[in-house]
Amino acid sequence: MSETILQQDVLDAGLEAFDEDWTLTMVLRATTDGPPLARQRVSEADLAEARSEAWLNGFLRRGQPDLPLEAVTTRLAPVVKKGRCLGFVLRAEGPGTDASVHTFGVSCLAPAAHQVSKRLVTDGLLREGDAYVYELQPQRAGETDMDPLPAAAARHDSGGMQIKTTTTALRYATRPLAQLRLTARTAGEIDDAVLPVFFTESAHKKSRDFARTGADDNPPVETGSILIGELGVCPDSGEMSVTVLDAIEVADAEQREFSLIPSSRTWSRVQAVLARLTGGDPCGTTRLVGQSHGHNFPLDGEPCALCATARECGRTTVFVSAADRSFMRTVFAGQPFALCWIAGSNARGEEVATLFTLRAGVLKPRGYYIIEDLVRS
Ligand SMILES: [Zn+2]
Ligand SMILES: [Zn+2]
Repeated sequence: MSETILQQDVLDAGLEAFDEDWTLTMVLRATTDGPPLARQRVSEADLAEARSEAWLNGFLRRGQPDLPLEAVTTRLAPVVKKGRCLGFVLRAEGPGTDASVHTFGVSCLAPAAHQVSKRLVTDGLLREGDAYVYELQPQRAGETDMDPLPAAAARHDSGGMQIKTTTTALRYATRPLAQLRLTARTAGEIDDAVLPVFFTESAHKKSRDFARTGADDNPPVETGSILIGELGVCPDSGEMSVTVLDAIEVADAEQREFSLIPSSRTWSRVQAVLARLTGGDPCGTTRLVGQSHGHNFPLDGEPCALCATARECGRTTVFVSAADRSFMRTVFAGQPFALCWIAGSNARGEEVATLFTLRAGVLKPRGYYIIEDLVRS
């Protein structure tokens, strides 16, 4: 579902719905017409990422980088068309600021649905690898008129868990975008609607090299790095940016296919590098900004449908897995600007890589800039 369509629906529906208190319930089924297997209230935790993205796009990127996440209040309203919930809108407001409106499709709750499906597998209501579908059902406060679940699934009628986020104001550097772009070359297609991202040449090479290390193993394994960098704010436009300045190899991670879990030893190393880069200055702007890793397994060699004629092969090992998604949500909670850079290969055996960042609650592919190494002041 495109954001444009959703935006239009929101406008068509008007904003009156924000006057009511809404909750969303996720309903999981094996097939579209099948009986509900689980029903779960969409929790604050499930919405945390959407809320943090509303903070990024409503405030941080609009000249208010000092506004902490917890100062932003959001109200939710569902987007319903012809009886079907297409997603929801968050109306975000800070102290003394104008409200902004952010739309999210049903797909942004895929990680929550994945968690529910895993529980269903444990309880024997789904088998490992089974397909499932989920939908959202909005309720006004106090409304409880849903059909009961079948007995085996009844204990999945849950209220979900509550979390409390605490964030202090971000630290950022002043980085005029015009100056950053001066020496930049691009990787992928640049879309001005998304947060600008820069890699220095050396950080880009390191994040690529660490991601590809495992490709030479037999059998190939996933390898990667933690990306270190800074947030910048442009004094001319108020736009925020992310610049990757270094990458730290995640060498001793527990490596499983499609996932990358840094060990405590790696985290200690990350802390040490951060301390060195900030020179022990707790007010420094250097921080973790994301991760890079390689899906270094080969494809089975089948060419894609357009392989003979297309300039680029569309069949690659580069995609955001459920484990990647879970890693990003956990490690970079409350950091909607975090980067997920994935390398792999296509059906022609060529090396490919894509940067993913949050867009309407989903990690989407996007372009970025590569710049000359910055002279650190
Ligand atoms: Zn991955
Ligand atoms: Zn192809």
